[in-house]
Amino acid sequence: MNFNSKILLIEPVTHNVIRLIISKPGNFDFLPGQAVEIEGHPFTMISQPEDLVLEFIIKTYPPKLFPNHSGLTESFLFKKPGDNLTLSSPFGTINYQGKGVFIAGGAGITPFLSIFKMLHKKDDLKDNKLIFSNKTKKDIIMETELRNFFDESDLSLTLTKEKINGYDFGRINEGKIKKFFNPDMNFYVCGPKQMVADIKSIIQKLGAKPNSIIFEK
Ligand SMILES: Cc1cc2nc3c(=O)[nH]c(=O)nc-3n(C[C@H](O)[C@H](O)[C@H](O)COP(=O)(O)OP(=O)(O)OC[C@H]3O[C@@H](n4cnc5c(N)ncnc54)[C@H](O)[C@@H]3O)c2cc1C
Repeated sequence: MNFNSKILLIEPVTHNVIRLIISKPGNFDFLPGQAVEIEGHPFTMISQPEDLVLEFIIKTYPPKLFPNHSGLTESFLFKKPGDNLTLSSPFGTINYQGKGVFIAGGAGITPFLSIFKMLHKKDDLKDNKLIFSNKTKKDIIMETELRNFFDESDLSLTLTKEKINGYDFGRINEGKIKKFFNPDMNFYVCGPKQMVADIKSIIQKLGAKPNSIIFEK
């Protein structure tokens, strides 16, 4: 089923990420962590189901540097309030199933943002952990909010192309995951395809139960 919506606000979040707020169609319901196709491309709602609008964080990929991307994300830069959009029904397998270690790469943080907001509102975020990998500090989406959501000891922000005090350095690997690993917790994984595959095999090797690993199928 398709839904019609209108752009209400579009603004920059980082050097290559925009925030998009659109009208919420009637009868449009979703769970935190679910995505929708906008004009045929998947993006995750970062707003709450009870909010009156839908909010997205969208990473843009300049076509010259990323010829394999369709250019849709870049074309958002040229859209304006009042423009119409077509949405699919919500879908997705990432939803909150209990305390866990959230492991995200780049734009893969988006399904977790709605979940964190929901838990924060219920004062139930405590004991969840986040490992979030980005290339450089300026790529970190909503760093201020994440630092506010998580205690310092439950948060690992790691950079893969920049060494800065106060941030871990290097890809998320076995050593980084071990610090937070607990076989009784859930593991939520989202990011570039290869990263999700690599992280899943590390977590399995460390002894996570197969049904405790939650990722977009
Ligand atoms: C259902 C669905 C919903 C989506 N929703 C959104 C959305 O709302 N907004 C949006 O912008 N995009 C969305 N996407 C797109 C998708 O999440 C991103 O394209 C993807 O996560 C890559 O992110 P990136 O380009 O920021 O990663 P990059 O910046 O390329 O990488 C992020 C980090 O991961 C590290 N990394 C890469 N590979 C590995 C590895 N093998 N092991 C360890 N670390 C690694 C990198 O070094 C880097 O630090 C969605 C996709 C799907 C399928």
